[in-house]
Amino acid sequence: MNWMRPDSSEAHNPLHGEGHRSRPFCWCTVRAQSPETWCERVSKFDLIVVGGGIAGSAAALRAAQYEHIRVGWLLGDRITTKRSRSQWVANIDNMIGIHDGIVRAKLARSLRGAEFADARSALADGHEHIAARDIVRNTVDRVKESYSDRVTLIKSAATEASAADGGFVLRAEEEEYRARFVVLATGVMDRQPLINRDEGGEAIADASWIFPYANRETVLYCIRCEGHLTSGIPTAVLGHGEGAAQLAMMLHERYQSACSVLTNGEAASWSDDSSRLLQAYGIAVRPEPITGVDGAKGDLQAFVLEGGARIEVRFGLVALGLHRVYNDLARQLGAELADPGAPVDERHVLIDARGATTTPGLFAVGDMVKRADEPVMKQIYTAQEYAVRAIDAIDAQIRTDRRRVTLAELGGAE
Ligand SMILES: Cc1cc2nc3c(=O)[nH]c(=O)nc-3n(C[C@H](O)[C@H](O)[C@H](O)COP(=O)(O)OP(=O)(O)OC[C@H]3O[C@@H](n4cnc5c(N)ncnc54)[C@H](O)[C@@H]3O)c2cc1C
Repeated sequence: MNWMRPDSSEAHNPLHGEGHRSRPFCWCTVRAQSPETWCERVSKFDLIVVGGGIAGSAAALRAAQYEHIRVGWLLGDRITTKRSRSQWVANIDNMIGIHDGIVRAKLARSLRGAEFADARSALADGHEHIAARDIVRNTVDRVKESYSDRVTLIKSAATEASAADGGFVLRAEEEEYRARFVVLATGVMDRQPLINRDEGGEAIADASWIFPYANRETVLYCIRCEGHLTSGIPTAVLGHGEGAAQLAMMLHERYQSACSVLTNGEAASWSDDSSRLLQAYGIAVRPEPITGVDGAKGDLQAFVLEGGARIEVRFGLVALGLHRVYNDLARQLGAELADPGAPVDERHVLIDARGATTTPGLFAVGDMVKRADEPVMKQIYTAQEYAVRAIDAIDAQIRTDRRRVTLAELGGAE
């Protein structure tokens, strides 16, 4: 891909230089007394969006479509991309509109006539998965094609953040980016089950055994988005905490699918009531370590437990909580975290109904956030919804400020 590097020259940025007062508002035009020296050294935007996943894409596109906001979009690098959840959503099946049936129906209508009979039947038989990375790639392409005059795509990861001059400075790969507003959308990472496989007589604890199944959507991570796939099909929940017990009960109540909870050698830590309900629902609890996964090409057949027992299931649901919330930048900028008492790198960033953190001008959206008054919903709908709320709040603030400047320039009312 032909990634754009940010160009900090005045010639590139129509908001700098001669005549900027008649052009759309830019923080630089009112904050910096001598933008010409500043802008030679740093790239300057109204807004920096950090994160090239679902929430970051939704934020960048919405800001681009508001036209007057100059956006720097830090998409992340190879390492952050690999650990992003958007990379692993193989087939979105819980959303209206994001479905291959729409395109297939349109194509089928345009392939009329006997000469296209084979193409029509191939279309009718096929299923084109729409993955989260397809959405991200499509958004990046759209931004590059249609909005490159106002959005600068930067394919690096922000490593440091600080407050400066009423705005923020982010650093990534030795470059410095400044903006009045920042939207963080850096996501989370799920904790993976470690499976003790035998390698030449030595037990190796390894999560990678699970990945072919996760890629094939036979090992699942989101009951809200993927739970319906298990309807009536034997499913094991992998976990040992209250969350695992709750998810097993929900699978049973909604889909009659949970048949066991595999604690993988850990002591179960759920409540007595949950124990009684699991028993009443006929959900077996197996405490033995998992030593193998049986299946072919990602089709799950069984989990093998120490001692040789085979738990025959077609789905596994991972319920181990979070390995990381990528909250480092939010912490550096002094934003309050949710989940008091949890390890600091597993704590979500606290936001309000607009996606605003407790640090003025700093917003956070997507899987990394929590509101005090709502359950967490780690799903695409919610990531997009809050991205749009945050951009609307930023847009309103920029326009309000611009009106104030315009009124001041017009002078007092007669
Ligand atoms: C296996 C699986 C299947 C799922 N299936 C569904 C589904 O079918 N439907 C559904 O609605 N939801 C599903 N989800 C949930 C969905 O994936 C998430 O809700 C969504 O991806 C959250 O988007 P996000 O942008 O907050 O985070 P992510 O998608 O994780 O994106 C984070 C982004 O931040 C970037 N980043 C991180 N650190 C930095 C940094 N320092 N600087 C710059 N960039 C950085 C990363 O590169 C990445 O681009 C699924 C999740 C999983 C794990």
